Amino acid sequence: MKYKSYSARNFKEIPQVKKYLSKREIFDIEVVSKVFPFKVNNYVIERLIRWEEVPNDPMFRLTFPQKGMLLPEDYEKIAFLVEKGKNPELIREEANKIRLKLNPHPAGQKYNVPQIRGKKLTGAQHKYRETILFFPSQGQTCHAYCTFCFRWPQFVGIKELKFAMKEIELLIEYIKEHPEITDVLFTGGDPMIMSHKVFRSYIEKILKADIPHLKTIRIGTKVLSYWPYKFLTDSDAAETLNLFKTIVDAGYNLAFMAHFNHFRECETPEVREATKRIRATGAIIRTQSPILRYINNSVDVWKKMWSLQVEMGMVPYYMFVVRDTGAQHYFGVFLHKAWEIFRDAYRQISGIARTVKGPSMSATPGKIRVLGVSEISGKKVFVLDFLQGRNPEWVGRPFFAKYNEKAFWIDELEPLDKESFFFEKEMEALVGNT
Ligand SMILES: *Cc1c(COP(=O)(O)O)cnc(C)c1O
Ligand code: SF4
Repeated sequence: MKYKSYSARNFKEIPQVKKYLSKREIFDIEVVSKVFPFKVNNYVIERLIRWEEVPNDPMFRLTFPQKGMLLPEDYEKIAFLVEKGKNPELIREEANKIRLKLNPHPAGQKYNVPQIRGKKLTGAQHKYRETILFFPSQGQTCHAYCTFCFRWPQFVGIKELKFAMKEIELLIEYIKEHPEITDVLFTGGDPMIMSHKVFRSYIEKILKADIPHLKTIRIGTKVLSYWPYKFLTDSDAAETLNLFKTIVDAGYNLAFMAHFNHFRECETPEVREATKRIRATGAIIRTQSPILRYINNSVDVWKKMWSLQVEMGMVPYYMFVVRDTGAQHYFGVFLHKAWEIFRDAYRQISGIARTVKGPSMSATPGKIRVLGVSEISGKKVFVLDFLQGRNPEWVGRPFFAKYNEKAFWIDELEPLDKESFFFEKEMEALVGNT
């Protein structure tokens, strides 16, 4: 398949859009896409979305902007301007105002920028001791955009919010000076959107540096779901797979962190074949996804997804809680509900698939898991723990919060019988009280 992508500018040319969507639905997409980035490709359109089931189809909701993603008053504002044919500059201004209300920079990412010799590595984040994130500048877009994506400010070009870095040399120097770092995680956007040539230039430098404490190269990507041809028919498919093999042969653990939101994404023959080829290089594929209303908030979806992934030789890794940014009001699932779905699906899968952890919130202090709902002296509580902490000492220590049926995120929870959670004082000291 030859890659063809569509955006807000030309989506009306998509034959399925013309055939299956009403004028009203097309207008809604146009309105919402003024605020949220929109990009979809021909594989998603032809192979993933079931157009007869639109608008309820989960793959459609995953990639096409949905009316409910804007709060009613914001929707009305933009819809009015679009309807009146107002000039794009004015619409952009209004859209930017709405964007800035949507917490575009969650989880204190600005605190995690590493430094070496007084120089900031603006394209990297070092939050958890063992793992450094690397945002190669050529990998800051994706094959299609997920409607719930928390990286959305990167794609709409709110300038000061972008991360990107070309200076791989500085990154390598930093890793060398930090013996606690065992993992480097290529992330984005989607680093697998980089051409093989660019990707290889990064990898070769890392391999050449031969840093003894660096054990794992991770790639966080949605390419298997959105463009499996990267490993099948793209002109650099064979070279990309060869490079994976080179990494493995050099003694690294190559962790391919695949992002799937629904079992439907794993089912196509293309994905099955691409998965086989990636595994044949010696890479291990681990899978992760947030839990999302309208897309995968059901026990059956997760049960089926995890089982299928194990059958395909992948390792289920994380279930995330959708972050406190963008259209969280639309995609958000109550914490107690996320836990119930996790638990009920987890109970019904083989022990082999119970490698999965969650539901987990990537928040400013760390990755906080909802271990469950329980009762202490007759009081209903949430039991939580850290899967990752800004201070590694916080990990694996259960703590409690008052039960709150309406909570979507940690900041809506209150400690049980205490002024603050055990980590809060230290947290303030670490990042400043801002
Ligand atoms: C999730 C995450 C990692 C990786 O965490 P693991 O639990 O090791 O997968 C690293 N850095 C940041 C900032 C993260 O959010
Ligand atoms: S693939 Fe990842 S980074 Fe890209 S739009 Fe989806 S969630 Fe965001």
